[in-house]
Order: sequence, then structure tokens, then C-alpha cells
Amino acid sequence: MNRIKNWVRPNIAHLKPYSSARHEYEGEARVHLDANENPFPNHINRYPDPLQQDLKAKISEIKGVPVDSIFIGNGSDEAIDLITRIFCQPRQNNVITMSPTYGMYRVYADINDVVTHEVSLSEDYQIDLDAARNKVNSETRVIWLCSPNNPTGNLLSNSTIETIIQESDCIVVIDEAYIDFADQPSWIERLKEYDNLIVLQTLSKAWAMAGIRIGMAFASPYIISLMNNVKPPYNVSILNQEKALEILKDNDFDQHKDILLRERNRMNSALKNIEGVITVYPSSANFLLVKFKDSQHIFDDLKAEGIVVRNRNRVHLCEDSLRLTIGLPTENDELLAALTRMSKA
Ligand SMILES: *Cc1c(COP(=O)(O)O)cnc(C)c1O
Repeated sequence: MNRIKNWVRPNIAHLKPYSSARHEYEGEARVHLDANENPFPNHINRYPDPLQQDLKAKISEIKGVPVDSIFIGNGSDEAIDLITRIFCQPRQNNVITMSPTYGMYRVYADINDVVTHEVSLSEDYQIDLDAARNKVNSETRVIWLCSPNNPTGNLLSNSTIETIIQESDCIVVIDEAYIDFADQPSWIERLKEYDNLIVLQTLSKAWAMAGIRIGMAFASPYIISLMNNVKPPYNVSILNQEKALEILKDNDFDQHKDILLRERNRMNSALKNIEGVITVYPSSANFLLVKFKDSQHIFDDLKAEGIVVRNRNRVHLCEDSLRLTIGLPTENDELLAALTRMSKA
């Protein structure tokens, strides 16, 4: 914990966090006159639990991670922002990203006036360890790794990830937004071995709850306590906490995931047979990155037919590529039919 403490911005390390009414009184009182709430009951007139304890208990059970190693944010994006703010002194420290990857790491660094050093992935979308080592310096505070990576869809090599965690004198974050679609275990199993590791997951993708904005960070209790100190006190609403708990208890997770994985295989094979498709990249996520002969044309024609996909054709190493989310079987059929039609036009 001592080395971690040295990486925390001094103002954050010394922060006296806001102590909310719900923090100071956690018991079951008969009469609540402490938080200036409106007393007329409508189910949401009271402030939510600032530490989301019921929801964390359920997530702890599902993930096998103790409650004090879990942070819940208003989407993973909140966790990305907090990690940047806690560890990076503006205009002094820097973060490392592996390009191409999820854009929010850089956006939050920019917002916080923190420099991002982008390291290019190799042609096969793996980490170039020597290139990464060359970009890291004594002011580096966070290395962002995304596995399975967005927008490329592949897992990063575990042995390279482990080397980076072991070698780095800074925080290493592994964003596992898509890990439920991959056929390998999460890095949350390794948290106890590495004090500088933070794993991000989300309820937005495999759990089908993008609309309620629940993201999780898993890390040592010390890092989690820093995140709790810096977050807005009531960052996850009562409605969102309750809905997440309800869906986590009684859900179609496995059944829907199986269908999506089957559809991913089907789309992978079918797309390869379409004229104009150059490469369908292997995916461990719920999307496929596909390189086309003329991606802009395909993108525009799909849009004209009411089918919107993610245009990545101006992204480094994704030239002429579109990112296709795996949808319902009928939606995937529509996409295939449209692409087949276009290839014959
Ligand atoms: C979708 C996604 C997220 C999820 O963000 P939320 O704010 O939790 O919805 C995080 N990281 C990556 C790489 C993603 O693609």
C-alpha cells in the first residue's frame, strides 16, 4: 500500500471526504430528520445508500470478490474518470493507452489536463512490449489495457499483461467490459497478487443494463476507499440500484449470452463469404471488426437502409473497417441480407 500511496495526488491523499447524512447514520431509525429530505413517501423521497451495500453483496456473490474490493460507479466511465483524477497530477503525470482502443481513457485524461502517450498495438492487435516500455517514464501513473479490446475484439496476451503489471511502478487497469463473452477467466482472480491492479467491468454489455449506468471497479480495499472518497456521495440512484439487483437475481444472462455467442460464430462465417469483405477479425466480444473493400460506401448504404454500424475506418490500424455489434438473430439476418445485396449491386 505504501507505494500506491506515493502515486496518489497529494490533495486526494489528504482529502477530508464529504460525510453525508447517510454516511453518519447508517442504522434503521424510526424518524429521519437528518438529510432535509421531503418526508412524504413516494419510494424515492430518501437518498440512496451511498455505498450500494445490497447491490455489492450480490455482485460479491457472483464475482467472488469481497465487498471491500468493489467500487460501483455511474457506468465504468465514472471509474475511468476517478482513476485518472486520483492518480494523475494535471500537467505533470501521464497515462499510457494501447492504440486503437476505447476512446474514453484519453478523453478523461484530456479533461483532467493529463497527457496521454499512445502506444501502437502490433498489426495483430497485441501489445508491443518494447514500444510500451519506451513510452513509460517516471511520471506515468496509469497504464490502460482493454481486454477483450474495443474496437478490435481480441483478448490481449495474458503473459504480456502480467509482465506489464509486474514491471510497472504505476497503476495498471484492465478494462474487461466484454470479458463475459470471452472463453477465459477474469483478472479479478489475480487481485490479491497485485496491489497496482484495477479491473473494470460493467453491467452495460453481457448483463444488458446499459440504460441504468452501472460500472464496477475491482481493486485492493485501499484503492477502493480512495475511489469512494472522491466520487459524488450519492452517485448511483435508488432506482438504478434496485433495478440492477432485480436483474442480477433473476435474469436471462446465460441464455442470452449463449445466443449471442452462437450468433457471433454464425456472423463470422457468413460475413467471410460476402464479396467485398476483406477480413473478419477474431472476436472475444459481442461485436466483430470487419475490414471491407470500400467501408465508407458500405457504411453509407447501410445507413440509408436504416442499419447503423460503427464506422472505425479513420481509426489507427482499423482503416476501412466497420464495427458490427451482434444483434438479435433477425437483426443479424437483416444486416447479412443488406450486405449481400450491396455486394451484388
Ligand atoms: C462499453 C464499454 C464500457 C462500458 O462503459 P459503461 O460506462 O459501463 O457503460 C467500458 N469500457 C469499454 C472498453 C467499453 O467498450
